[in-house]
Amino acid sequence: MRLTRLFLLTTCVLLTLVSIMLARSVMQEWNTVSAALRGLRAMELTALAMTIAEKASFERGPTIAAMGDADTPTPAVQERLAKARAVSDAAFDATLKALANSSRDEHRAAIAQIEKAQAELAQAREKVSRIIALPHAERTAPSSRITREPIDQMFGVIDIALEAVTILSADAERVYPDLTQPLVGARLAAELREYAGRLGSQFTTPIGARQPLGAEERRDIPRIIGRIEELRHLIEVQARVRAADARVAAAISDMKTRYFGTGLPFINSLTAAGEAGGDYGMNLPEFVARYVPEMASIVKLRDTMFDTARTGAAASIAKARRNLHINAAVGVLVLLIEISVFLLIRWRVLKPLLTSTSAVVAIAAGKLDTPLRVTTRTDEIGDMQRAISDLRHTSADKRRLEREREQLIEKLQLHSNTDFLTNLLNRRAFTERVTQQLAIAQRNNWPVALIMFDLDHFKQVNDLHGHAVGDTVLTEVAVIASKLFRAADTLARHGGEEFIALLVNCGEADAEAFSNRVRAAIEAASFTGADGAAFRVTASFGVAAATAADVTDINAFTRLADQALYRAKAEGRNRVFRASMLGNGQDLPTNPATA
Ligand code: GH3
Ligand code: MG
Ligand code: MG
Repeated sequence: MRLTRLFLLTTCVLLTLVSIMLARSVMQEWNTVSAALRGLRAMELTALAMTIAEKASFERGPTIAAMGDADTPTPAVQERLAKARAVSDAAFDATLKALANSSRDEHRAAIAQIEKAQAELAQAREKVSRIIALPHAERTAPSSRITREPIDQMFGVIDIALEAVTILSADAERVYPDLTQPLVGARLAAELREYAGRLGSQFTTPIGARQPLGAEERRDIPRIIGRIEELRHLIEVQARVRAADARVAAAISDMKTRYFGTGLPFINSLTAAGEAGGDYGMNLPEFVARYVPEMASIVKLRDTMFDTARTGAAASIAKARRNLHINAAVGVLVLLIEISVFLLIRWRVLKPLLTSTSAVVAIAAGKLDTPLRVTTRTDEIGDMQRAISDLRHTSADKRRLEREREQLIEKLQLHSNTDFLTNLLNRRAFTERVTQQLAIAQRNNWPVALIMFDLDHFKQVNDLHGHAVGDTVLTEVAVIASKLFRAADTLARHGGEEFIALLVNCGEADAEAFSNRVRAAIEAASFTGADGAAFRVTASFGVAAATAADVTDINAFTRLADQALYRAKAEGRNRVFRASMLGNGQDLPTNPATA
């Protein structure tokens, strides 16, 4: 696997793992926050359900007043009753609306209780309406206790509503086990307030009618007081568990002074009066004015406890939120650091490593011209990059030296093969080349011809015009001859003013004709002498020809052409003489292998 791919893969795997871990932890915190919010909502719902109990309880006062009033209750009494009923209805509606659409079991159970309470209240109100329609005397006759029936039913409404409170409060307690005490305390205080109210209700009819306590009152009052004492005890137990809360302690102490220190003794004295004969020493409004304010301390305790729970829940939510934020922030930070580290490794290590690898590969492949970046890094990667740069310089130097050496060798070879004056091959190179040409010709079974030519009376040219002019003549004759020879032919300076040429795939007649063309060209050329006057030169040619296979000795072949040249000189110069015309056995011996 390539390093880049491996690195990418590792990066992805690590990033995924870290992301999963972070997501899990953030999810956990998120769940804690949602649970805490759910708990707080349960508390709000509990408070709403408590309001139902409180408002339905309050409705009893105006109800009793309406039933005890004149034949047709006065508009003021009726208005009070209507208003109290509207307030109860609003409390029911608000709670049911808040619970609507919830599919949670607890909420469904609470809704069932509340709807039951609502139905009970509706029934009680119907009864009340029927009673109000009766003549006043009939309703309030000491023997007739019919007004008690709807009132008792209204007590039942509160009990049912408090059931809903318990269900909702338990839901909140599950989320906030530490807040169980204030929640239960608040629930108990709500119940205490209800019982205190009920206790007061026991006196409305007797005080209103200035009658002694009836059998029901005599039976119920001690029962209610018993329940009140029980609730007080329970509340105090709950409060003791959370003794540290000063606000709750203050509210309890206030309740002890106000309700238990003043309200309850007042009731006890009324009970004694009621039992004694019915002289309560006050009318109903006076009773209400004295008793009701004392109950406010219970409501205050309920609210204080509930507030404590709510504050605790808010603190829990804030803490959960803070944890969520911290976790999320730490998570993002960890991810950022991780990504940065990966980018850093990629940028600072992997990329230079790959570039360096390519550079080394290029150097190994002989590509020395790709530009290398100059590094200022002081770490190990920098050392490596510098070493690669040095390596490339050394390789380039070596390459240059090699090329120079090759050029030098080429030049030397050229010089050793070339005649310095005419630039034709020298005699040594001629022999070398001729050996190759003969081999080719032998393979093809070609005829070959050897031409030797020598400038006539060249000594005189030197003598007349000087050695430098002689050199020029030699050079120009070489140029004239070169132009006429074919590429396959080999022309060389044989020495002095003498030239030699081997023509492959060429018979004697062709060689003679060709020699004559060269001879004519030399004769036609004009040279400028030292005195500025033009002069001409001529050359004599000797031609020898044979089948390549018969040329076993190049020296013998050369001698033959030389002898023909000698004859050309002898016969008057500026002519071509063929070796075959020499006679006297002047010929190449036939190669026995080809004969
Ligand atoms: P022939 O027609 O019989 O060949 O007469 P020739 O004068 O050409 O022959 P000879 O052998 O007497 O003289 C050759 C002359 O060629 C002598 C020498 O000075 C001259 N020579 C040989 N090589 C060079 C050279 O490289 N440059 C010059 N300028 N002259 C050369
Ligand atoms: Mg000569
Ligand atoms: Mg000569």
